[in-house]
Amino acid sequence: MEARILELRKELREHNYNYYVLDNPTISDFEFDMKLKELQELEAKHPEYHDPSSPSLRVGGMITKNFETVVHEHRMYSLDNSYSKEDLEDWEKRIQRNLGDVPVAFTCELKYDGASISITYENGKLVKAVTRGDGIQGDDVTNNIKTIKSVPLQLKGDYPEKFDIRGEIVLPFDGFLKMNEERIANGEEPYMNPRNTASGSLKLQDSSIVAQRPLDCLLYSIVGRNLNFETQFQMLEKAREWGFKVPTVAKLCKTTTEVMAFIEEWDVKRHELPYETDGVVIKVNSLQYQEELGYTAKAPRWAMAYKFKAEQVFTVLNEITYQVGRTGAITPVANLEPVLLAGTTVKRASLHNADQIEKLDIRVGDTVFVEKGGEIIPKIIAVDLTKRPADSKPTEYIHECPECGTPLTRTAGDAKHYCPNEYGCPPQITGRIQHYISRKAMDIEGLGGETVELLFKEGLINDYADLYQLTKEDILPLERMAEKSAENLIKGVAESVKVPFERVLFALGIRYVGETVAKKLAKAYKNIDALKEAPLEHLTAVDEIGERIAQSVIQFFANEKNLDAIERLRRYGVQMSISAEKLQNQTNILQGNTFIVSGVFEQLGRDELKKKIEDNGGKVGSSISSKTTYLVAGDKMGPSKRAKAEKLGVPIITEQEFLNMLT
Ligand code: AMP
Ligand code: ZN
Repeated sequence: MEARILELRKELREHNYNYYVLDNPTISDFEFDMKLKELQELEAKHPEYHDPSSPSLRVGGMITKNFETVVHEHRMYSLDNSYSKEDLEDWEKRIQRNLGDVPVAFTCELKYDGASISITYENGKLVKAVTRGDGIQGDDVTNNIKTIKSVPLQLKGDYPEKFDIRGEIVLPFDGFLKMNEERIANGEEPYMNPRNTASGSLKLQDSSIVAQRPLDCLLYSIVGRNLNFETQFQMLEKAREWGFKVPTVAKLCKTTTEVMAFIEEWDVKRHELPYETDGVVIKVNSLQYQEELGYTAKAPRWAMAYKFKAEQVFTVLNEITYQVGRTGAITPVANLEPVLLAGTTVKRASLHNADQIEKLDIRVGDTVFVEKGGEIIPKIIAVDLTKRPADSKPTEYIHECPECGTPLTRTAGDAKHYCPNEYGCPPQITGRIQHYISRKAMDIEGLGGETVELLFKEGLINDYADLYQLTKEDILPLERMAEKSAENLIKGVAESVKVPFERVLFALGIRYVGETVAKKLAKAYKNIDALKEAPLEHLTAVDEIGERIAQSVIQFFANEKNLDAIERLRRYGVQMSISAEKLQNQTNILQGNTFIVSGVFEQLGRDELKKKIEDNGGKVGSSISSKTTYLVAGDKMGPSKRAKAEKLGVPIITEQEFLNMLT
């Protein structure tokens, strides 16, 4: 019996591959279904032969109640964007400067527009699939990914023991249209676009619904240790051999001219593809060079996305409304006659600020030219004056806050108007609390943006510190609040006292203090009291903190309301200093020194080494210059780097010599 089960699994795997990856079926759908049915029946009768990689699991059925958060073993970066040939040439020059005078080849791939995914394989079996999330951690959506037929559950060939493969989950156009036809027939709202539908599908609780959606998975990158290839292009070929769906349009280009030709060719041909693409991704082909180039805080230096030119369309501007953000910034919004643009129905566009409206002389009733670029919200780029109604009047920008009536202010050099009523203007109050609870800040589970608004409307909270005094009795009477959700909310708030200081600092919502700045400040000052007392000169001496940020920090701590909220947070147990454990491994030994790290190391990973430098007060530079204090050289360092360091008189040290500096 076991033999038959194994045989059926093997056959079905092969047919799946032929059909979904190669697009070349060798048996009829009917025959396939019969074999699948036989396998399902046998598996039901013999649970002892259960295998999580069985093709029978493609039909789904597993329910995920809560998607578990998983930290990516290797971070999932974003990509830098370019929009012109010049941008691309600048990028190549930067690379060439960084690597020295070596020939650099590129692999060009299409940029698939869907939802990114990272899938882990161990011993050839799919073990986990995680969404990108914020790049550091995402959601475990393994059950849903297993239902996507082009994702292999079992690999073939000479695959490495363990690796992560990254790709994009897309919903091809014809499947998307079919889904919408069905929805309309059922009296449901059609979905907006394939991309959002694909990413929404990953978070469905019932995997059998995901199984019915015609999702596809296109792969483009492998990360892990001991991988048996040396270039991006080989990586794609290997992935294909192991059974993954890797589009074959990828091309190895030796010159910029070839790269540009690829872009021009696909800007036209992409319209014939069955799925959405929004650009080309150009990657340095050699993995060794990729390592040397490394990453910025956000994206690899060795890759660049070239975005296809945005699509544009005409429509009528019906009304201008004004939104008030968390910081009091006013954003004018164009309410448009709905129009189809790049596969999405567009109803609103951002007008940015008063200057923008004045510059383009945008008026209600105008026919406007709308463009959708990289952003989610499209923008108005021009007005068709020939279609302007005879009675049209220039737009008069508002003078008072649409939410609280306070006269707006505008400081020189800032294009935006602000509502100065920081502590009395509802969207500012709720916006601050929403920021506080958000994922990258305190990440409070069980509490969402709408509930914050409700709690505020009911007079239960007026700032983020109030969250900690909420009781179950307070919130149970609220609309749609059940016993369980009330408990979760209280629990989520209580647990947030464990969040480390640097994230608390970010959560406080000090203007211009984003995640990175918060980290730098936390490291420099160690606790809130030291930061609170810091004078301007002291703040601006911290790496990457300029006058504007420093002023904002001082202003924040000059405000009684903020000080009061901080004291209350402290009393509730929120972290107001770096933990002792973290402090222990940090020194200032390397202060004032800038290091360049290059090559492969024995004792530490490259990232560990960089972290050690930063933890001990040093700086990690990106390319050798006269400002570099040391070049830490590992194995396989490029000869041009050595030459450059020697020319500039930068001392070259080994990993061991570096480690000795710390003791
Ligand atoms: P962005 O979201 O604009 O920062 O672009 C980065 C995303 O592009 C990645 O997270 C991937 O999901 C996606 N992407 C699509 N196609 C590719 C490709 N061929 N190579 C790398 N990333 C890609
Ligand atoms: Zn206001």
